[in-house]
Amino acid sequence: MMISQTMNGRLNQQITAEFSAAHSYLAMAGMLDGMGLKAVSKRFIEQYEEEVKHALKILRYVLEVGGKVGLEGVPKPTSDFKSVEAIVQASVEHEKRVTQMINDLVTLAEQEKDYATRSFLDWFVDEQVEEVSTMTEMLNIVRLAGPNLLQVEGWVRHQMTEGKT
Ligand code: MG
Repeated sequence: MMISQTMNGRLNQQITAEFSAAHSYLAMAGMLDGMGLKAVSKRFIEQYEEEVKHALKILRYVLEVGGKVGLEGVPKPTSDFKSVEAIVQASVEHEKRVTQMINDLVTLAEQEKDYATRSFLDWFVDEQVEEVSTMTEMLNIVRLAGPNLLQVEGWVRHQMTEGKT
């Protein structure tokens, strides 16, 4: 095995965290569709797909370096959000937590002089900058729109057409 037991365990935790994020975005997509926000809901399904890709990317890396994949249960997502703003706000906070987790993995890789994992994690470091930035931008739009949620629909639709998501 080319990584330490500790790193193997932490990468497994990250796989579970990515699947948990996917699960949570999917639940949010369902709620948003229920609120009539079809485009925003679609955007969250895209986000779900992204998170699954993240999980698989880490899983493949663990296998590639001869580690063991150990999956844990995915927690039940929150389903009592009171508004679109609350959903997007929770997403921003979630992405910030994931960023912290990735940073902690980088710290561990550096401590262990595990330069292969350090290099593998670079992609995730960059990806998190984008994730936090995109969600924060959406939160600003939701706040600017206030009660005019159709403006959020329009903005998301426009973003998706331009391939910015
Ligand atoms: Mg992710």
